[in-house]
Amino acid sequence: MFCVECGKEGKTYRGLCLDCYLKKNVFFRIPSEITVTFCRNCDAHRILNQWKTGDMWADIEDAIKSRITAEIPLECSFDREKGTVTCRGTFEGRKIEKTGHIKIKEKYRLCPKCSLQRGGYFEAILQVRGAKEEQLERIGEIIKRKVDDQHSFITKKEKVRGGTDYYMGARGAAEQAAKEIREKFGGKLTISSSLVGVKDGKRVYRDTYSVRLPEYIGSFFKLDNKLYRVVAAGRKLQLEGMDGETRYIYEKELKRAVKVELEAREATVLHHDKNTLYIMDSLDFTTKEVAKPKGWREGKKIKIVEYEGNIYAFEYHEENHIL
Ligand SMILES: [Zn+2]
Ligand SMILES: [Zn+2]
Repeated sequence: MFCVECGKEGKTYRGLCLDCYLKKNVFFRIPSEITVTFCRNCDAHRILNQWKTGDMWADIEDAIKSRITAEIPLECSFDREKGTVTCRGTFEGRKIEKTGHIKIKEKYRLCPKCSLQRGGYFEAILQVRGAKEEQLERIGEIIKRKVDDQHSFITKKEKVRGGTDYYMGARGAAEQAAKEIREKFGGKLTISSSLVGVKDGKRVYRDTYSVRLPEYIGSFFKLDNKLYRVVAAGRKLQLEGMDGETRYIYEKELKRAVKVELEAREATVLHHDKNTLYIMDSLDFTTKEVAKPKGWREGKKIKIVEYEGNIYAFEYHEENHIL
């Protein structure tokens, strides 16, 4: 066979000798531009019709790779600074390499998520009731994490009597957040659903997830002439007597207890022995001896209260336990 280009005799490829074929054939077709649409409100971007968040360059590279057509197996490498992609492969033992410059066309609009949010859309209401100020902060973090996991949003946050209402863009985020709050802080979760209308022949429901945190955790009660602190809540309340006794009672049994308002303050454990903690009172920096709370271990924080002339220490938890 003869090459139709240069007349050389030998093996041909589509009528050309290897040298001519390598010169004339396009082994890789690299797109010259790619459109990236940025959300005007959040950090989402759309490439090839898909809205995403996160590593935009990785998404751009994936999109470009998916649009390169090649006649031979290839490897691609990107130079983000220069905006180039280089494809490499081999044909008949010869190295083939092609570098293409990719222009990124930028567009701006609202992503579907932000359009819904701007329009006041929500699928569920998460009601948090009975949370103390320091718990609300942690609860806010849980909600934010669940919302981010679902690439969703909070439409509105509203302080209402007894708590806070979160209007949530995704039902799943509301449900997961409610469950995690219930798990971390205890309390009751009730779910209700109401029909809000019909859309495209389907009934549209809106769910309300209401988490009521146990109001007693951390509170002090005098019961049977003894001072207790409520340390956990579930089906029953777990009480810790100031002498170390652990006791479980039903919430209704609190009716015969007397709530005692005590101001707890911090104290530093200086050292300890079998049954005693030697502490420094943060109020007046005096050192005191107190009974070691049950289950206390070195390194754990304590708080103290004064009651009827005695000082009681208890272990201080960042968050409450449930049974
Ligand atoms: Zn030739
Ligand atoms: Zn957006």
